[in-house]
Amino acid sequence: MLSEAATEPILPRYVTFRFDDGHIAGARKAAELLRPDHGSFFIITGPVEGNLDLQYPELVKGDRGNLEAWRAVAASGHDIQPHSVTHPRFLDLSLDEQKAEIRNSIEFVRKIHSGPYVFCYPFNVIPTPQPIVEELSAAGFYSNGFNFNLLAEGLDRFALRSWAIKECDFDLIVRQLAESVPDNAWIIFGLHSLDGEGWAPWTSASLSCLIAAVRDLDYQIVTVAEMIGKIAAISSRDAAANHR
Ligand SMILES: [Zn+2]
Repeated sequence: MLSEAATEPILPRYVTFRFDDGHIAGARKAAELLRPDHGSFFIITGPVEGNLDLQYPELVKGDRGNLEAWRAVAASGHDIQPHSVTHPRFLDLSLDEQKAEIRNSIEFVRKIHSGPYVFCYPFNVIPTPQPIVEELSAAGFYSNGFNFNLLAEGLDRFALRSWAIKECDFDLIVRQLAESVPDNAWIIFGLHSLDGEGWAPWTSASLSCLIAAVRDLDYQIVTVAEMIGKIAAISSRDAAANHR
């Protein structure tokens, strides 16, 4: 006799590869490695517009691309999202300054696509209270080790979690994916760039192996924007069902 668990439908599990800080060369490489799937790229918009005078100069090293370059990445199906204008520490800013960093970086991303817009707080620090910016559909990311988002009711779209993965933890990452992620969960991997560029870069070769492992484990690779769209559809369907 089949056990009850065996007759339960298996719900999908999702992985997003997220790359922060807007390194255009790394974005192009990641896009190639992910094909035919897509990644989410959170860009610091100031340097893309030519403002290199940032509080943390290491954050503007390397080529940040320009509007056309990011439009080209988006045109092949990737998700480009705001990661502030100047990458400040949000806890040092007034609420109005926080809103301006969010709004002005969305304004730039608006030239690339029409949403949804998901904000990634610099340094993975989500301020409380969080600034309310109407244009935003979601925001995050807490990034303290192995972490996932459950797509069941109650997911807080404004406290999205991710896992800042390190290449030296490759085996651990694959083991966690295989053994510790429940059905209907969404795991977001936080990376920066590749092959020596950006904070704690992975090599292209290792990232390629990780993408293969994710596929072997039957995860669906999705972008943050796609998932926010799915979550919105699930909540409106549930709301409709509750009103029947
Ligand atoms: Zn960053």
